[in-house]
Amino acid sequence: MTFYAAPVAKLIEEFEKLPGIGHKTAQRLAFHVLNLSEEKVETLAGAIREAKQKTKYCSICSNLTDIEPCNICSGNTRERTAICVVQDPRDVVAMERTKEFKGLYHVLHGAISPMAGIGPEDIKIKELLTRIREGDIREVILATNPNIEGEATAMYISKLLKPLGIKTTRIAHGLPVGGDLEYADEVTLAKALEGRREI
Ligand SMILES: [Zn+2]
Repeated sequence: MTFYAAPVAKLIEEFEKLPGIGHKTAQRLAFHVLNLSEEKVETLAGAIREAKQKTKYCSICSNLTDIEPCNICSGNTRERTAICVVQDPRDVVAMERTKEFKGLYHVLHGAISPMAGIGPEDIKIKELLTRIREGDIREVILATNPNIEGEATAMYISKLLKPLGIKTTRIAHGLPVGGDLEYADEVTLAKALEGRREI
């Protein structure tokens, strides 16, 4: 039983499904939308639709992109001998903000987590190995999150890379343990990259 008109209740319900949005905030957002001009509502709805329709995963690195391959993979100023492996497209943004890394990326889209039933085959590890076999890669920097899942994933990948004789490094700690890479500030992340160690 809701006190709102059905379309309003539906809008609140949809906002409530978004991460970090509770019932109160969902109500506030819904009423904000209702107070917007028709034109502004169209702009908002259009932006949501367009972001979804026009972005895909790069066929090479799996980062989010609106061009194929993405800007980084097709960029001619990037060093093509190093790949930085991250869990999430947001981590690429965080690394790029440091301006310290000039190589390529590989986005895993997750981390190994037996607790959550996520195995190596559920994230983009196979694709990484293919890239490494086909390209002239000399260093793989494992920049997965500094938590249990991120560490397990880094260990797993480093074991796979050992027989291939490729230098494999892990970004240094000093990053808040248990945190997400994307929340680290540029200086901390740049230091972590600089202090990476071979594993
Ligand atoms: Zn790419």
